Amino acid sequence: MSGSEYEPFKLSRSYTSREGTPTIDSVDLNVFRYSYFSACLSCTFCGHSCCNWGVDIDAENVERILARKDELEAYLGTRSEDWFTGEWEIIADYPGGKSTRTKVVDGSCTFQNRENGACKLHSFALEKGFDYHVIKPLISSLFPLTFGDGLLCLGEELYEGSLICQGNGPSCYDAQRNEVLYYFGPELVAELDSIRDSLKEKAAA
Ligand code: SF4
Repeated sequence: MSGSEYEPFKLSRSYTSREGTPTIDSVDLNVFRYSYFSACLSCTFCGHSCCNWGVDIDAENVERILARKDELEAYLGTRSEDWFTGEWEIIADYPGGKSTRTKVVDGSCTFQNRENGACKLHSFALEKGFDYHVIKPLISSLFPLTFGDGLLCLGEELYEGSLICQGNGPSCYDAQRNEVLYYFGPELVAELDSIRDSLKEKAAA
């Protein structure tokens, strides 16, 4: 990811995710400027391509998924051996301190519903009546927001201009505000709202 496009803004303090990591202490102001379609399940033009490459998934998330292995194997119709690449990378920012990736099968993430593009981890949680954040990867829930070295920023696709639906719809921050709220709490959201509003005021002046 190229940092040349970043416009980092230092926050008044640091904010740690409810999962114990990552910790955010600055925000790339582009999260308030870049936009995307965001109503993913109503999308008729991209073929749900943002799931084509699979996703990084932290070690603690993998454990929570494997704790429901039998139920999920029956729901998904696949074996747990087919869910993750098994190649691990040490990433201190990720819960559990390391991450692997979901496997790509026939051109998209093994957890994607091929008929409607939905995430089956998400729909499984809804059907069973528990919070989807328990098993859906943090990176997927936050996308197109992401993080690294304390910076809340955008996925590299946005900086590259390669996300097919970018440019129309709400800002990446507004679209994913509830996910930021879930992971980092109301105080970070209040500070980000204030930054967003002052950028709008400056732009209108
Ligand atoms: S885990 Fe779900 S949301 Fe994430 S890439 Fe796979 S199908 Fe898409």
